Amino acid sequence: MTAYPNLLSPLQVGSLTLSNRMVMGAMHTRLETLDQPLERLAAFYTERAEGEIALMLTGGYAPVPEGVMEAGGPLFNRREQLAEHRFLVQAVQKKGGRLVLQILHAGRYARVPDCVAPSAGKARINPYSPRVLDTDEVWATIKSYVHTAALAQEAGYTGVEIMGSEGYLINEFTAPLTNQRSDEFGGSLQGRMKLAVEIVKAVRQQVGADFLLIYRLSAIDLMEGGMCAPEIQALAQAIEQAGADMINTGIGWHESAVPTIAASVPRAAWTTAVAQVKAAVTIPVMASNRINTPAIAEQLLASGAADLVSMARPLLADPDFARKVRMGQEQSINTCIACNQSCLDRIFSESSASCLVNPRAGQELDFPLIPASKHKRVAVIGAGPAGMACALYAARRGHKVSLFEASGHLGGQLNLAKQVPGKNEFNETLRYFSVALTQAQVHIHLKTRVSSESLQGQEYDEIVVATGVRPRCIEMEGAQLPMVLSYEQVLSRQAQVGKRVAIIGAGGIGFDVAEFLSGDTRESQDDTVFFKHWGVDPTSQSSGGIQKPDYAPKGLHEIYLLQRKSEAPGKRLGKTTGWVLKSRLRRAGVQMMVGVSYTKISPQGLHYVVAGEPKILDVDTVIVCAGQESNRDLYATLQPLGLPVHIIGGAEHAVELDAARAIEQGMRLAYRL
Ligand code: NAP
Ligand code: SF4
Repeated sequence: MTAYPNLLSPLQVGSLTLSNRMVMGAMHTRLETLDQPLERLAAFYTERAEGEIALMLTGGYAPVPEGVMEAGGPLFNRREQLAEHRFLVQAVQKKGGRLVLQILHAGRYARVPDCVAPSAGKARINPYSPRVLDTDEVWATIKSYVHTAALAQEAGYTGVEIMGSEGYLINEFTAPLTNQRSDEFGGSLQGRMKLAVEIVKAVRQQVGADFLLIYRLSAIDLMEGGMCAPEIQALAQAIEQAGADMINTGIGWHESAVPTIAASVPRAAWTTAVAQVKAAVTIPVMASNRINTPAIAEQLLASGAADLVSMARPLLADPDFARKVRMGQEQSINTCIACNQSCLDRIFSESSASCLVNPRAGQELDFPLIPASKHKRVAVIGAGPAGMACALYAARRGHKVSLFEASGHLGGQLNLAKQVPGKNEFNETLRYFSVALTQAQVHIHLKTRVSSESLQGQEYDEIVVATGVRPRCIEMEGAQLPMVLSYEQVLSRQAQVGKRVAIIGAGGIGFDVAEFLSGDTRESQDDTVFFKHWGVDPTSQSSGGIQKPDYAPKGLHEIYLLQRKSEAPGKRLGKTTGWVLKSRLRRAGVQMMVGVSYTKISPQGLHYVVAGEPKILDVDTVIVCAGQESNRDLYATLQPLGLPVHIIGGAEHAVELDAARAIEQGMRLAYRL
């Protein structure tokens, strides 16, 4: 008897029978466009097909050049491209998988100078102003969708998804905010829906009854001037009547001021919006966004809010998600922690997507799942992210691995990170490593401090030092006063923090500490609190589902976050999540000060100079978040002994260390052993 009867039940969609209710949603991985061999993208898809996901969607391909996400972005409009698409489709089919092509016209989000839109008005996230499409051009755009759908069918795809959400072209037509047209494609609701409906009708006519046609509909726009619930439901019905087999749902626009997929969004927060779409139609409806565990997916389906779940990032994190669900191995799922660090943030930095918790994602060809040619005895010292990853991948490659940790638990700095409100998903990473290391038969030795003496005579072929970092201490008069705390003392709750607090260092950890002291832990766990704080009406009775936020700061601490650099605070935080954190801190009243120069700490507070003027910040606690230094003590004693020693993670290089780099470095070394 499975714990996931809904997730694992088959579903008839159009003429297809899906083996389960789990779908890999569309993701831009940049594997489609970077100058990389097609085999790389094929390997990414085939590994997920082998993982038994019922259906996979490609990243969005534009039907016309002006609709691409950015210059050189995915475009599928020529017969000469058929061969590369056939290659992908056949690779997936050989593994028993099904691939659906997403057709995405980015509209005013297209980062190209000739981008187009229903009406004038630049998106705040795009430097380019769009040109307004005339009526003939809108009809021509419809034909371009039909052409791409026909090519997709010829290439062998199982179907197409028409991207009608997240603020892209079709969504821009449906929302009053971006559609002020007076022709047949604007004005009334019927006019605003017309582009979407005509595309679905025309594509259906072209591809026939047996080709899967999915429409991705914005279940909540999260933009003032967006659609309201009755309009969204009317659109869903019109899409069903136009011939779609299934509706997928999207949440918010890319320029929304409400987070939709960050870790601070409660899991399955958008269920109400999806349920409203489902209530309006008879075809299957798919839920998406912040669905990252089988339990939450099962609960969502059992509630009747949706028929399927779309998971994109969770499939980056674990290609075997669906297979593990079928086999009852949910404890060994590598859960997406919604950090965006190695997927979306990388894509916006113009590199290809991977995953913080699964650095093999997108690099399957470079790190194949095959044993090492020679099996060795390996000692890994330090069970933080780098050490755990190295031990795990080394053991999976057949090495006999012992993992030593001085403290009583696995995880190193992850144990601090998980204390921060909105970062409790790190608990899943700790659970995953604990289960996976045991399954891989790594010998774990907790509370074991390793020395050069204890290693001698042990005959390890390879020794990996992953002893991590220490918080950097500051050298300044008063730095030894009891009112001065390290971030470690604060996040591990070893010290009492006063009412008025100065945080020295506004890097990632300074921000995290400010959030730890001021944030509301309920927000990332309780939908009602989240919606209230961010001004969301999940039922979209108001236009776009936006209402006035209602936030009362905790007020336990008065917090000052300081940095010496004069750049904007938080400039180096994650591209897609930094704004969420900054906005939470601003709203909680955290005061940020830049361009300061510290002079001393005294019982009066923190003495500093800004713009040449000496000042005293009257605080009773100073928390030092001034970065880290490598802990290389053990390494220094091992090197002279001529042992085969490697050093990784923060112990190797502390500057700009994060869990993504540590885990990837651990994996890379494991493949070299
Ligand atoms: P960090 O990002 O390097 O920030 C430490 C800050 O402390 C520096 O920006 C520096 O800023 C200041 N500082 C350095 N030495 C100092 C000194 N001697 N005296 C006073 N101030 C000093 O380091 P972190 O905050 O410890 O974070 C470590 C790593 O984890 C980083 O790579 C970070 O990106 C990552 N992380 C990211 C997040 C996130 O994105 N949310 C969260 C946690 C950690 P000034 O010199 O300008 O004052
Ligand atoms: Fe999820 Fe983070 Fe991996 Fe992206 S990088 S897939 S958000 S765990």
